[in-house]
Amino acid sequence: MSAQLKESIVDVPDFPKPGIVFKDITPLLADAKSFKSAIDQMADPFKNSSIGIVAGIESRGFLLATPIAYCLGAGVILVRKKGKLPRKTVSVNYDLEYGQDVLEAHADAFPSGTNILLVDDVLATGGTAQAACQLLEKIGGKVAGLAFLLELRALKGRQKLTGQRIHSLLEY
Ligand code: AMP
Repeated sequence: MSAQLKESIVDVPDFPKPGIVFKDITPLLADAKSFKSAIDQMADPFKNSSIGIVAGIESRGFLLATPIAYCLGAGVILVRKKGKLPRKTVSVNYDLEYGQDVLEAHADAFPSGTNILLVDDVLATGGTAQAACQLLEKIGGKVAGLAFLLELRALKGRQKLTGQRIHSLLEY
C-alpha cells in the first residue's frame, strides 16, 4: 500500500523556488481509497495513547489532523501563521532558511496537561514541528507524539525532535 500511496504524491520540481522538489499530496487526498488508507494508518499507532487533542499545522496539516482526530475520538486545534486567529494567542518565533516566522495557537485551546498529537503533511528540516511543539508546551500541553504523512530523511528533521515519538507513514 505504501507504494500505491507514493504513486499518488506528485513531485513538482523547483516549486516554490529553484532547487526545492515540492511533494504535492493533493492527488492522494482526492483519491478516496488512498485518503482513507493514509488517515487510518496515521491514526493507528496512537489509538491507545489517550490523545485528547490533535493539533494540525497550517495548512495541509489541517486536512490530515481533522480526520485523524475523528478516528481517535479526540478534538482538533489549529496551529496557524501569525495574525490568523481571532482571540488571545500564544506565539513562538522560529528560524527559516532566510529570516523568521511565527506560529500561533489560541491561549485557551486546551486544558493544561492535555495529551496532544501534532500532525503535518511533511517532515523536512523539522523547524516547523519543533516550533509547534514549543508552542503547545508553552500553553501547557504534553506532546505525546508527532504524525507525518511523509518524511524527507535527508533533511534530518528528527534531529530537532529528539525524545519525541514520531511516526512518518512514507519515507523518502
Ligand atoms: P520543515 O520546517 O523544514 O520541516 O518544513 C515543514 C513544513 O514545510 C511543512 O508544513 C510542509 O508542509 C512544508 N514543506 C517542506 N518541504 C516540503 C516539500 N518538499 N514539499 C511540500 N511541503 C514541504
